[in-house]
Amino acid sequence: MSPIQPPELLCFVDGRFVSGRASFNKISPVDGSLSATVHEAGQDTVDAAVLAARRALQGAWGNSSVNARAQLLRRIADLIEDRFDEIVAAEIRDTGKPESLARELDVARAAMNFRAFADVVASAGLESFLTERPDGRRALNYAVSKPLGVVAVIVPWNLPLLLLTWKVAPALACGNAVVVKPSEEAPSTATLLAEIMSEAGVPDGVYNVVHGFGPGSAGEYLTSHPGIDGVTFTGETSTGSAIMRAVSPRVRPVSFELGGKNAAVVFADADLEAAVAGLTRSVFLNTGQVCLCTERVYVERPIFDDIVSGLAQQARALKLGRPSDPDTTTGPLISLGHRQKVRSYFDLAIEEGADVVVGGGVPELGADLARGAWIEPTLWTGLDNKHRILREEIFGPVAALVPFDTQEEAIRLANDTDYGLAASVWTQNLERGHQVAQAMRAGMAWVNTWYLRDLRSPFGGFGLSGIGREGGKHSLHFYTEPTNVCVQL
Ligand code: NAD
Repeated sequence: MSPIQPPELLCFVDGRFVSGRASFNKISPVDGSLSATVHEAGQDTVDAAVLAARRALQGAWGNSSVNARAQLLRRIADLIEDRFDEIVAAEIRDTGKPESLARELDVARAAMNFRAFADVVASAGLESFLTERPDGRRALNYAVSKPLGVVAVIVPWNLPLLLLTWKVAPALACGNAVVVKPSEEAPSTATLLAEIMSEAGVPDGVYNVVHGFGPGSAGEYLTSHPGIDGVTFTGETSTGSAIMRAVSPRVRPVSFELGGKNAAVVFADADLEAAVAGLTRSVFLNTGQVCLCTERVYVERPIFDDIVSGLAQQARALKLGRPSDPDTTTGPLISLGHRQKVRSYFDLAIEEGADVVVGGGVPELGADLARGAWIEPTLWTGLDNKHRILREEIFGPVAALVPFDTQEEAIRLANDTDYGLAASVWTQNLERGHQVAQAMRAGMAWVNTWYLRDLRSPFGGFGLSGIGREGGKHSLHFYTEPTNVCVQL
């Protein structure tokens, strides 16, 4: 059998695949092989994409009905499912994640995103008020929603299609046109989605893809473009800050889903087995590369040793390996560059005086994986909130465990962060579960579970974790502009 040729990924503008100004190599994090050549959009390609999006808004798409758009979204979901295996293969080629994860989480959620926002938009009503003045005059106020316009969608590499469609689905549901800039580390599925958009009958110019990097490349060209009406972004906090600067001269709205340094709080009355299983998932899922992953674990002192040893046992049992191996639980990090960053935190942990419970290095996985970005699942004890290990987002399969003595202390420790994305609380006392979850300064707080999502609920973060909320009607708010009409009766 001849080896499969790495694909050449083009940009997608106005319904057509187009070349870029140059191309770059996407390297597989599994074994260092070439996984794709990608065309990088120059300023001219970004200009053409923004112009095509604007033209689409001025055409039939601008007058499309909510029902027609909801139907289109459902057709896109069906087509994602028709091409499920192909999309899974593209996602694992870029990210190296286990095939089971790409199937159960990434690609399944992509289809679900389109269906969920078809339902949300189809059932959204108008805000209206009957005004009754003291002098007897009456008026009807009602707000009609219009698309925001040309929306720049910039996404990271960790859950590429899931996070992209989480933004594209509501944007299209609301009648916008989008220019998407996928991560340079995960360009494949956004490109496949372009084919699906055409097949579904999405008009030319409504969905455009510009590949490339951030500064001096497609990301910067897009966010500083005078033709965009808003930016929705998921990625690092420092990138969010750069994007804010880029859009500030023209005062465009932004929706930012940024980094996290998420806490889990485990009380002595928790179901220990369930807590260890939940923590294993929340620390190590996707090799710790989910913005919601737990990197700080606060444990009530009487069960501290049990949780440390239980979690360490689970960490040692994780199976690192090729995505297609059904026994694989854990893939590599996204790149050697990211592994270098994570390893620098391994060194820092030692400098800060951590005890390494498990991991702390690079695994030996044999010659064929030697050039991949593999890393050992790692747990530390012996540190506290003054250490950088507990303050900075590492974005790898790592956590530091810290004991606490009272509920008040646990809340204070969990909230002692500049971030505020997610938290989880483990207790069998439901009253305490509600109290502590409500006290969390975090956009999402789970009790006895983690990453259980209802797409109608608000998603986003406090502080350095973002601006605004998406999900359900919160997405509709961001992707539309209302005009309030007041009619004297
Ligand atoms: P990143 O910020 O480096 O890159 C994200 C995207 O922004 C990429 O497409 C990149 O090319 C682009 N970009 C970079 N610089 C830019 C610039 N100056 N202008 C415009 N675009 C630019 O993030 P990453 O490393 O791809 O992803 C990991 C980060 O994403 C972590 O911090 C993680 O917590 C965060 N994240 C947050 C959420 C959330 O929902 N809050 C979800 C997933 C990931």
